Amino acid sequence: MSDQWWDHLRRDVLDCNLCTQCGSCVGISDGTLAFREDHGIVLPIRTEKSGQVPEAAFRACPALACPYPDLNRFVFGKLPGNWLSGVTEGSFVGHATDKSIRRAGASGGVISAILIHLLETKQIVGAVCLQVGASVPYRAEPVIARTKEEVMRCAQSVYSVTPVNTILGTLEKEEGPLAYVGLPDQVASIRKLQRIKHPAVRNITFVLGPYMGTQMTFDAIRSFLRSHGVSSEKEITRLRYRAGEWPGHLEITLKDGRVLTAEKFHYNYLIPFFITRSSLQLVDFTNELTDISVGDAWSPKYESKRGGYSVILARSARAMEILEDMRSRDLLALTDTPLDEALAMHSHMLDFKKRGSFIRMRWMPVAPDYGYRPTSIPSARIFIEWCLRMFFAIGALRISRWAIEHLPLKLVGPVFNLLRKGWKELSKTSKRKGLRETEFEVCSLRQSP
Ligand SMILES: Cc1cc2nc3c(=O)[nH]c(=O)nc-3n(C[C@H](O)[C@H](O)[C@H](O)COP(=O)(O)OP(=O)(O)OC[C@H]3O[C@@H](n4cnc5c(N)ncnc54)[C@H](O)[C@@H]3O)c2cc1C
Repeated sequence: MSDQWWDHLRRDVLDCNLCTQCGSCVGISDGTLAFREDHGIVLPIRTEKSGQVPEAAFRACPALACPYPDLNRFVFGKLPGNWLSGVTEGSFVGHATDKSIRRAGASGGVISAILIHLLETKQIVGAVCLQVGASVPYRAEPVIARTKEEVMRCAQSVYSVTPVNTILGTLEKEEGPLAYVGLPDQVASIRKLQRIKHPAVRNITFVLGPYMGTQMTFDAIRSFLRSHGVSSEKEITRLRYRAGEWPGHLEITLKDGRVLTAEKFHYNYLIPFFITRSSLQLVDFTNELTDISVGDAWSPKYESKRGGYSVILARSARAMEILEDMRSRDLLALTDTPLDEALAMHSHMLDFKKRGSFIRMRWMPVAPDYGYRPTSIPSARIFIEWCLRMFFAIGALRISRWAIEHLPLKLVGPVFNLLRKGWKELSKTSKRKGLRETEFEVCSLRQSP
């Protein structure tokens, strides 16, 4: 007997190289699907379990069809006034006022502070978030945090692909209400499931998420280890992607007691070599379907103050209520920030997604359908994308990955950082020119089966 929905997933998503590893299909597959890692890439496979893969496993997939206009109407009842940010009701820069939460967080500890507040005011009984080292020291896995301490253990960013939504298999039986923290594709999948009233997401009443520019495969960590003469991740006893003072540094503690570190902007040298396909594919940078999304407040004004600052977009009335309540209780320090100013902190990454991804889609044999697109992109901007395409293609070659491991890291990180800054400066005019004025049109490319 044919397995209709597995056939669709395999043919329309996996064989077309579209899977973003959100984890939903596996999570709600009743054990008919599982993840397998192959050369650093985790992908769903069919297990031996008899029976059909449920239809919802395909419907939840955000990789092939992810109609942002429809999902915006479903979640917020309207279309975004600004397609760069998605729907917003308020924008802020801020941080947790509790020093330990702020320090534990990736930027200002805002997501953790909100989760703790929701727990302490009994608006939720738990929060789905990601913890590194819950069972294996170097692996991140989704957990339900039910106390302040458990939320704090999940603070910070995980830059290696982790299919958070595999946890959906257990959520149906959990008590709610729950908050949920995920990346843009994971959140989109949650919204798709809420739209079809799937029981796995019944208890999720509040959704938060980090901005998401780029993500890497776990091979980036393996490569970093090899650069230090460490042959296996099994030597790791503790892994923190953004330890210490903002912006933080990669910190890997080994069984032999050594601690390997790399500043955040130096560790970024691994991005061109290990960037995921989905980072190049997704068009949502600011996590547009969340109630609240949070990024780093990259601006000289805040970077010079140090300590940790987040940029925060509130997208729903409830989000605004929560933020105002936390501000009045002095749990969050918030500065109202015009949306334009908030977006200007990330114009390179917004351009990378809102024009770059749409250009890259033209080169894909089968492109995802996000339900909208820019009406036109200048040729100078397309030329920049060709340069990036070559750059990433060279980075993905085995020889390039081998070479980078054999160069002294003390040199590679700083040189990469200089090149990154130089490239940003060089491409600034073409990349920023017209970004704010870019017009988008609602459209649909395909009918879902
Ligand atoms: C892969 C990735 C790429 C990012 N790229 C950018 C960028 O380009 N520019 C930018 O400004 N910000 C980016 N961010 C967001 C930034 O790193 C911080 O997460 C954000 O500023 C929130 O900080 P915070 O201190 O408020 O959150 P915290 O209080 O540290 O809480 C973070 C929450 O996010 C959850 N989380 C962490 N990693 C993941 C993950 N991989 N999947 C699902 N949940 C996760 C944690 O469990 C925790 O609950 C990225 C984050 C990630 C994970």
